[in-house]
Amino acid sequence: MENALRNAVKNNELELYYQPVIEIATRKIIGAEALLRWNHPQMGLVMPDEMIEIAEESGFIVSIGEWVLREACTQFVKWRADRVGVSPIERIAINISAVQFRQNDFVDKVINIVAESGIVPSMLELELTESVIVDKIDTVIEKIKRLRKAGIAISMDDFGTGYSSLAYLKRLPFTTLKIDRTFVRDITIDEDDAALIETILSMASIFKLDVIAEGVETIEQFEFLASHGCQYFQGYLCSKTVQVSKFEELFLHEIQSCSSGV
Ligand code: C2E
Ligand code: CA
Ligand code: CA
Repeated sequence: MENALRNAVKNNELELYYQPVIEIATRKIIGAEALLRWNHPQMGLVMPDEMIEIAEESGFIVSIGEWVLREACTQFVKWRADRVGVSPIERIAINISAVQFRQNDFVDKVINIVAESGIVPSMLELELTESVIVDKIDTVIEKIKRLRKAGIAISMDDFGTGYSSLAYLKRLPFTTLKIDRTFVRDITIDEDDAALIETILSMASIFKLDVIAEGVETIEQFEFLASHGCQYFQGYLCSKTVQVSKFEELFLHEIQSCSSGV
């Protein structure tokens, strides 16, 4: 697997799929999260959970992550230029591994790719997980600040599953919190999960952070989130993670496809 992964970028075997991000107030697709897939010549479609860890351990995640960043920015700029949809897409989110973030030249690389691709920096959102924060916190803060200064948005992914500390939330200049889907799953049946989400939402409003709820699958979950002031969601209620052509289709027919559920 490791050997095969070594050549995956070079052999053009990697592909980005996209999942729509929906604004709850308007029920419109306003953005997308890029999610990695590997078309392995023998194994077929390999999912991130089966490869990211190997890519991190071997260090290949650095070049893979760079490819992801370049590819997603280029695709997004193309979507904007093509004016796909009635209103152009506003945001593209990309997952960043802690190993990738830890590289000394990470920020410079991002800024270079932003410049090369021509993406408006504020339309790019980097998703970091709490595993990033366990590193030297001052260095982490400095990097995030440099990215923010360049206009790039930063979100905390899988919020609530790791070492999230309120002290960090206060010190780190995030723009967005993404509520992990394990909390969303039971909001309509488990009072504790409902209370937890309400707390996250009110905390986010104090810190002036946007919130994206992940893994929204039912209309009941959607309604709960909408009535508690959550701004955005992703999930099967609107769409699975799909290939470029399918995403473009969804985006063109955004009103039909996402309001069929919501
Ligand atoms: P994530 O960032 O939390 O991404 C969301 C995952 O949940 C995606 O799985 C998505 O397909 C899935 N999902 C979305 N909506 C629903 C829903 O309504 N219900 C359920 N049950 N699942 C839903 P995927 O694509 O398999 O990605 C898994 C993880 O792999 C991602 O979790 C992310 O941490 C990582 N990953 C994906 N692409 C990249 C990448 O380019 N770089 C890095 N470093 N990590 C990546
Ligand atoms: Ca993510
Ligand atoms: Ca997530």
